[in-house]
Amino acid sequence: MSDDDVLFNSGVLTGPRRGAVSPPEEAWAKKKGGLALIECPQRIPCNPCSTSCPTGAIIPFTDINDTPEIDYGKCSGCAICVAVCPGLACLVVDMTFSDKLALYKLPYEMLPLPDKGDSADCLGRTGDVIARGMIEAVTEPRRDRTYVVHVSAPKELAGDLRAIRVVKRHGQ
Ligand code: SF4
Ligand code: SF4
Repeated sequence: MSDDDVLFNSGVLTGPRRGAVSPPEEAWAKKKGGLALIECPQRIPCNPCSTSCPTGAIIPFTDINDTPEIDYGKCSGCAICVAVCPGLACLVVDMTFSDKLALYKLPYEMLPLPDKGDSADCLGRTGDVIARGMIEAVTEPRRDRTYVVHVSAPKELAGDLRAIRVVKRHGQ
């Protein structure tokens, strides 16, 4: 089975391809606030990531079916793309959070919202649990009731960690 068959039959991204973009490692390691990753490899009529990016880091589409490309020199780590993407395909990872932990800014559509200090299972692309993380903040970048959770978890998972499941409410 080809990589394309796996992707389009299962939804699981298996390798590098156009529309799946991650930062260059040297710049990523130093960038306070983090840099965006996008995993959107299929041509579909969708563009709010590009039209909402306040710095122009997501290169303007010439066709609404384009897949995203990022100019990393312009990315501020603001996570607006994380909040607006209807496909939950964007995240921001801040590698400067601490020596061993990165801060993952992830889309979150569940209620109730978690609180700072809650524990969370960190999930890979197939939903498998790959680490335990901690909620550091919940933000609403556009004040439109779409939320972004900030989770601290090991840096080495940046290529794999794509979602969380809250497992313990702080103080309960
Ligand atoms: S994090 Fe902000 S600046 Fe970076 S690509 Fe997303 S919307 Fe643009
Ligand atoms: S908003 Fe999300 S799903 Fe739509 S093109 Fe951008 S990354 Fe892909």
